[in-house]
Amino acid sequence: MEKLTGIDAERLHAMTLARYAGNALPHLALLASDGVAVQQWNKGAWLHRSRARWCPRCLRNGSSSRWLLRWQLPWSFACVDHAVYMVTECQSCWDTVDFRHDAPPPRNCDNMTDEGEWTYGLREPCGHSLTMCQPVPVSDTSVLTLQERVNSWLDGTPTHDDRQLVALAAVLIPLLSPSMVRRGDPLLRYAVRSPRGTAQHKRNGKRPWTDSLRVAAAVYAADRLLDRGYPADYIADRIFDLRLIDHRRRPWHMDVAELAYGPGLRPNPFVEPLVHRGLITLGGWL
Ligand SMILES: [Zn+2]
Ligand SMILES: [Zn+2]
Repeated sequence: MEKLTGIDAERLHAMTLARYAGNALPHLALLASDGVAVQQWNKGAWLHRSRARWCPRCLRNGSSSRWLLRWQLPWSFACVDHAVYMVTECQSCWDTVDFRHDAPPPRNCDNMTDEGEWTYGLREPCGHSLTMCQPVPVSDTSVLTLQERVNSWLDGTPTHDDRQLVALAAVLIPLLSPSMVRRGDPLLRYAVRSPRGTAQHKRNGKRPWTDSLRVAAAVYAADRLLDRGYPADYIADRIFDLRLIDHRRRPWHMDVAELAYGPGLRPNPFVEPLVHRGLITLGGWL
């Protein structure tokens, strides 16, 4: 494909994702020869460039099994068909797995492990079947309804409320605290309690939106906060108070690339009031 079209792999990949430009992904002048723009876009946009998340049951589905394009977006947190949360890690080596854009999608984990090192002095691939991973069932059906609303945004047919939902969820992902999901699925509360991916100084490639449970929790919390139709300013106050209850004081630092290409909708009506209250700080490059 790369040879036929003369376009490099990274850009080809961005083109296939271009159907989400303007909603889940920011617009990118794809045919511009501006490599820096593409690089910045890649850095700031919220997508799993190489790390896969998947529904093992969809993958197991005989001839129709395939890896869906939307699984590369953090916004796919649950499979509506099978009522399960997306799997984000191989359940044998407990590490994230790669999509491998250049080859047919793998069905087995090809992460190298050091299992064989003791016996053979060789590292060998994990080899665990990704279709055999056990997904966590969604016990709260409202989570599936929320995924359907996010999907209609991805497909370009959102209502005004769907847009607001995604915009607020986008800024909540790094700012979540347990009180915001008090009444939700206990599993979501657990996901929020864990600081995974939110420590900015040593995130090791993991971003707050890497974990599908955390994204689900953010969408759930956003839905609760939007419930009464309050304005963005009031909602920002609520977020401030709820974080105070949970002793979460560290603001989310949003760098320029993330501000330009990152959170959900541009412009996002919730960014400014959150910056005003010191919950988000802006500036700098990655
Ligand atoms: Zn599925
Ligand atoms: Zn593995």
